This record gives sequence, structure tokens and C-alpha cells, in this order.
Amino acid sequence: VKSAEMAGTDLDDDETDGLADEIKVTLQRELQDQRKALPVYKFKDELLKAIAEHQIIIVVGETGSGKTTQIPQYLHEAGYTSNGRRIACTQPRRVAAMSVAARVAKEMGVKLGHEVGYAIRFEDCTSERTVVKYMTDGMLLREFLGEPDLASYGVVIVDEAHERSISTDILLGLVKDVARFRPDLKLLISSATLNAERFSDFFDMAPVFKIPGRRYTVDIHYTVAPEADYVDAAVATVLQLHVTQPSPGDILVFLTGQEEIETVEEILRRRTRGLGTKIAELVICPIYANLPTELQAKIFEPAPPGARKVVLGTNIAETSLTIGGISYVVDPGFCKVKSYSPRTGTESLLVQPISKASADQRAGRSGRTGPGKCFRLFTEHSYAKEMEDETVPEIQRSNLASVVLSLKALGINDLVSFDFMDPPASEGLLRALEDLFALGALNSRGELTKTGRRMAELPLDPMLAKAIVASEKYGCSEEMITIASMLSAGNAVFYRPKDKALIADAARQRFFNAGGGGDHVALLNVYTEWEQSGHSAQWCVDHFVQSRTMRRARDVREQLVALLERVEIERRSSAGDLDAVRKAITAGFFRNAAQRRRDGAYRTVKSWRTVFVHPSSGMARVDPPPRWVLYHELVETTREYMRQVMELKPEWLLEIAPHYYKENNLDTPEPKKAKAHGQDAAAAIATEKPSLSLKDFFKA
Ligand code: ADP
Ligand code: MG
Repeated sequence: VKSAEMAGTDLDDDETDGLADEIKVTLQRELQDQRKALPVYKFKDELLKAIAEHQIIIVVGETGSGKTTQIPQYLHEAGYTSNGRRIACTQPRRVAAMSVAARVAKEMGVKLGHEVGYAIRFEDCTSERTVVKYMTDGMLLREFLGEPDLASYGVVIVDEAHERSISTDILLGLVKDVARFRPDLKLLISSATLNAERFSDFFDMAPVFKIPGRRYTVDIHYTVAPEADYVDAAVATVLQLHVTQPSPGDILVFLTGQEEIETVEEILRRRTRGLGTKIAELVICPIYANLPTELQAKIFEPAPPGARKVVLGTNIAETSLTIGGISYVVDPGFCKVKSYSPRTGTESLLVQPISKASADQRAGRSGRTGPGKCFRLFTEHSYAKEMEDETVPEIQRSNLASVVLSLKALGINDLVSFDFMDPPASEGLLRALEDLFALGALNSRGELTKTGRRMAELPLDPMLAKAIVASEKYGCSEEMITIASMLSAGNAVFYRPKDKALIADAARQRFFNAGGGGDHVALLNVYTEWEQSGHSAQWCVDHFVQSRTMRRARDVREQLVALLERVEIERRSSAGDLDAVRKAITAGFFRNAAQRRRDGAYRTVKSWRTVFVHPSSGMARVDPPPRWVLYHELVETTREYMRQVMELKPEWLLEIAPHYYKENNLDTPEPKKAKAHGQDAAAAIATEKPSLSLKDFFKA
């Protein structure tokens, strides 16, 4: 028993395999005791009764009350899976789906992927026997394409509905419809916030089941003046707390993304090294979307006796994951949000102030196990007067092309009468329709074309999906799916240790120069060489390539190979003809063409935005830089940067996208007087011949 305690309860299967049966039994009993201690446990019977009586229920409960991990198990135990149907539980975040599935598998004493599994994009960890399936909301949305009545599910739980991710919003509309013609389907909408009435209204006054949570008081502290640098302020606050506050009592810091988390982690490591042995150890645990699975479980492990844990997390720690033992929350008050301008068609991730609702959720994380403290690195005035009450639903600030394509593929032609909880602006919808039309996914009546149907099968952004579909014509599907896999595997292809920065840069530039002409082909070169090395990890080390990203790219690629077969695209290599590859890319990304100006900056061809080559692009080191380029995406920091850039022949635009570009779009002289940005864009749009009229789409 002693060794079981020392080992804790977070052992995975492989580790437990070696343990004596007696210890396994003890571990399992401990887990079952933990389950019974959760707030939702007391309401189990009442909840099951309500579910038996009603088809649709809204479940509301404080974060950590056991909604996500327990309710699917209750339903399974109550026999909802005995008819051979599954329970789906959707999560807006990948990490949450994986982590919760792992936890529930452990609680049920089964191997992950057997009775309990998860599915996220490009990763399916389920099997024939899976009855409880955690999945991203986007995955369930995709499953609708193959199974519009969701026949394999007996229960669908739309979890974390308060997050209002774009896929969740679409799911809400779709499941509402399915529930009408499948009276046997049970539907649970679960939310961590109290304004559940909106969900109830949307689902025709479905009953709201409240799980009262335990909540201790949380002391909230504000800064007196705004912080100039919230990262510095966060580090200082953590160190101060660590040195002055009694342990135990862990700290949770909310940051905006991986890079920021890594920066803070590094500073904290450096600064705590100098603290000497009198101060307790500080165990640093990062958590963000791309954190390798092995490290994700670490945030749940208690700190060793005498030590203190500090969790550095993104928004994911707000409601998706509950970490025990947190007494202090440090909240700089920012998060990264997607924002989209339908006018210019650009989507960007921007660091922005959070909403009051988010700030309150974050503060609440400190009061779960006892009274807590929250240190807000912003002023009380900005909380009261400047922050929005609620975060705007993602659907109202996103590029809708992908969603519209999915809906069209589901046969939902009339988007205006789709049952949205909060409808997107018609400007955004129209833009999405125009983009899809330009890509050839829709015809002029707004109906899905054959190309569009094939694109919809590929779980990728429509532009990338189109590039793959077009690769058939150019005979380069092998190359194109490699590039797509590399682009989808994450931005961290290369690494650059500080002490070897120059060698790393040279290694990277070699891949760029080898093919010539762009970052896309450089990615292709990286993958091809890695493959030739026999997927060697040493090769990765030698070439400053992240082997984790490569392995992921290989997984993605395998899936794309299967999808090619499904959409009946022959696997063909262009055998070194890189123009073929570049043309296929152009067929998807023609909108992202830019021309070099006299001053060295680039200007996008149609929307006349001023953009620059991202310093991480191999193109940044090409002299002279090409006159015409095509980029994969824009990232906005101090300027708008093009990331993943390739050289382009302007005549390709006329050849490949004649419906989008006319001769006079190319080589337009620079305007004599520099106009304001907005005017530029407006002028560009005004001169753009609208290929479709509003009337065509909204005939209703
Ligand atoms: P809710 O969905 O209501 O927010 P959850 O069901 O996610 O609550 O969490 C219930 C409990 O299970 C929490 O105390 C949480 O800390 C714990 N838990 C969830 N996931 C894990 C995990 N992967 N490892 C350890 N504990 C976990
Ligand atoms: Mg939950």
C-alpha cells in the first residue's frame, strides 16, 4: 500500500501492469473514492432520472464538478450503451479531449482506446469496442458528413458549450435538428457558466439541471496602475507569491500562448535557481494545445512534499481542464483571439483583453479546494469600465469558408435560415460564399460542385483542400499532400538553439535553397530527406529539425493518403517538376498573391495590403527578392508578415484563376499618393467585379 501511495494515482497502464494485484485494487478503490467526492456524484440519480424523462437537458455546473468525466460514465453504467450505440462527448479543445479520455479510461480501469477513446483531427484513438468517445466538436461535425443522423450514437453531450466555439455553434444547430427525427437520441448541453437560459431557449425551453458547486471565497487583488509588461509582472508576482506565501498552495498563471509560456518558464527557471535551498522547490508545469501528450498529464500530478507547483497555461485552464490544489491565480487579463475581417478576407490571431466573464472564471480556479487569491495584473477600473461582459462567439469573428463548405456538403443550402444561436454577420457569410465560389467549390447558384464535395472530405482549410484537389490536374498529389502535412503539423519544424543559431540557420536555408523558390518546397525537401533517412531521429538532430513535428507530419500524411483514395485522386509524383507543385498551390492560394513594390515591401494584388516577408521565411534571405510571391498565411505582429512564401509567375494567376484575376489586376501602377489603409482596401473591393450578387444567395 505504501508504494501505491508513493506512486500516486496517476500511473498509466504500462506502469500498473507490473504492480501486484493488491496494489491495483487499492489504486482503483482510491480512484472510485475520488469519483464519489465530486459534486456531481450526489446528483447522479436525479440526473439520470431527468435524462430518462427528457430528450434534451442543459447541464450547468461549476468547473471541476465532474460533468465531463462523470456524466458519460453514469450513462454508460445506466445502460445507455447496451444497445450498441456510443456516447459522444465533444470538447472545443484537443488537449481537453485527450486528457479527459485518459482520465476516464483510468477510472473505468480500461486501456485508452478500448471502451473509452478520443478522436481529434488526424488522430483517432478509438476502436470497435469504444462506447464512450471524447472528441473535438470539429470531429463530430465531420462525422455528420458520413452519418447525418448520427446513428452510431445514443447520447450526444455537447460539452463546454459556453465556450461557443464555431464548431460547437454549428453542432448545436445540427443536433437540434437530428433530435427532432431521432426521438431515441439523448442530448445534453453542458456549460460551466450560469447563463444557461440562452441554451434552454435555443432548445425550446429544455430543462436546466444545475449542479451546485463548492466554491470558497476568492480574494481579488488588482494592480494600482496598468502594467507595462504583463509577462514581467506575471513572473514577479509568481516569485513573490512563492517566496512569501505558505505552501502548500499551487499557482496558476494564465498566458496567451506557447511562446509566452516558454519564455516565462525559462525566466522562472533561471530566477529560482538563484534562490538557494531555504526556499521551497518550484515545479513548473506548462500546458498548451501543442504540448506533447507525455507532458500533459504532468499538470495533474501533485507537487512533491514541500514543493510548490506553478501551472503556466493558456485559456485551456479556464474551464476545460480542472487542476486540483490551486490557491493562487495570476491573471494578466489577456488571451489570443481569432479575428477576421470579411472586407479584406484576412484572419489573424491577436492578443486581446479578456472579457469579465473570463476574468471571473479564471479567478474561480483558485477557490476550489479552499479560500483562494486572484492577482489581476490590470486595474479595477479596466475591469469595471473597459472589459466586455462576454467574449464574442467565435462564429462572429471567424473566416466562415470552412464552415459554409461543411454545411453545403451536408446539404444545407439555405444558410440564412440555418438555426444559429447567434447568426454570423451576413457580410461574413457572403464573403465565405464568394471565396468558395472563387475556389470552384460552389457554382454560381451557390451549389456544391464536384470539386467542392471533394474539398469537403478533406479536414483542411478550403484553400489547402483545393490545392490538394488541384494536384490531380498537375500530377503532383504526392508532393502536395506532403506539403499539406508539413503545414498542418505545426509551425515548429525547425529549432534554433541559442548557442548554435548560425549553424541552425544555415541548415535551414539549405532546405530552402535546395529546391529553390520557396518555403513550401523547402518543407517538401525536409520531409523527403527525413523519409530517406528512414525517419531517423538522429537525422532530425543533425539538421535542426523537430522530430516530433516530423512524426506528426507523417501521421497526418498517412491520413491524407487514405483520404486521397476516398476522393479518388490518383497518387502521382511530378518527379521533380516543381512548377507543377507550385501551380497546384496557386490553385488554392491564388488570393494570397503579392507583388514587390519599389520600396521593397510587398503589396497584395487584389486587396492592396502592405505585407512583409516573415523573418523565419527562407525568402527573407533571397537577394534580390522575387517580384511576385504567394504566401500561405499572414501573421500580424508589429507588421503584417507573410509566412511560408513561394515565388510565383504572374501569368499563372491568369491561367489558374482567370475568374479572379484580369490582366489589369497585374502590374497596376502604385497609387501616386499613399492612401489610408482602409481606403485602399475599399477601393480594391469597389473595383472588384462582384462575381456573385447577394440576390443569388439569399433568395430564400
Ligand atoms: P467539469 O467537467 O465539471 O469541469 P471534470 O469532470 O473535468 O469536471 O473534472 C472532475 C475532476 O477530475 C476534477 O477534480 C479534475 O481535477 C479531475 N481530472 C480531470 N481530468 C483529469 C486528469 N487527466 N488527471 C487527473 N485528474 C483529472
Ligand atoms: Mg468539463
